[in-house]
Amino acid sequence: MTGKRPGYFEENNEPISARIATGLHKIGLAMKQQSWQQANGVGLSATQGQILATLVASGPLTGKELSERLGVTLPTISDSVRVLVEKAMVTRSADPRHPRASLLTPTAAGAALGARARSWPEFMADAVADLAPEEQRAFFAGIVKMIRMLQEQGLVPVSGMCVTCKHFRPNVRTGPAPHHCAFVDAPLSSEQLRLDCPEHELAAESARREVWEQFMRRA
Ligand code: SF4
Repeated sequence: MTGKRPGYFEENNEPISARIATGLHKIGLAMKQQSWQQANGVGLSATQGQILATLVASGPLTGKELSERLGVTLPTISDSVRVLVEKAMVTRSADPRHPRASLLTPTAAGAALGARARSWPEFMADAVADLAPEEQRAFFAGIVKMIRMLQEQGLVPVSGMCVTCKHFRPNVRTGPAPHHCAFVDAPLSSEQLRLDCPEHELAAESARREVWEQFMRRA
């Protein structure tokens, strides 16, 4: 069946890049809505939920470190932390690494809520699980590249990803796991790259560029 207007969509459709952007926007709205609903359900704001989830995943952090990891301004983090301290979800203590900074640690109640908040994006994982393995691999590769680009534009926090980590050695061998993590001294495949690694240490800007070029040679 060819239809009466073959070629209609060649002339009357947005390019695929624009439709992907529209799709991502819709997914972003769904995630925002879910986080908001779930956070409200336990009496938190979405940012407070993210803070608790991050402290549970990464251990005690300063306000500045939280701001860098979440890509949220320091005043917004400070406001949310103040409320979390008032609600006895988080405690402040002196940071041995930075004498003038406070280290934020979740209390038992805060840790329990943080653990729940960590599972909020699971509705998305369920949707992704329905994709075929090769679709998941292509999707993941595209996401790594997109996030890297947005990071370099300063639109997404630079922390957490292998491709910006000083321990990452891309394409150092052939085979299914061509990369290497020097932190744990173990090979990893492109599908095993992390986006939110607690051991991540940001490489210097020039090293990041070199690592990315080396990664892209076979990506
Ligand atoms: S420390 Fe984490 S982010 Fe860095 S290379 Fe190893 S797995 Fe990746």
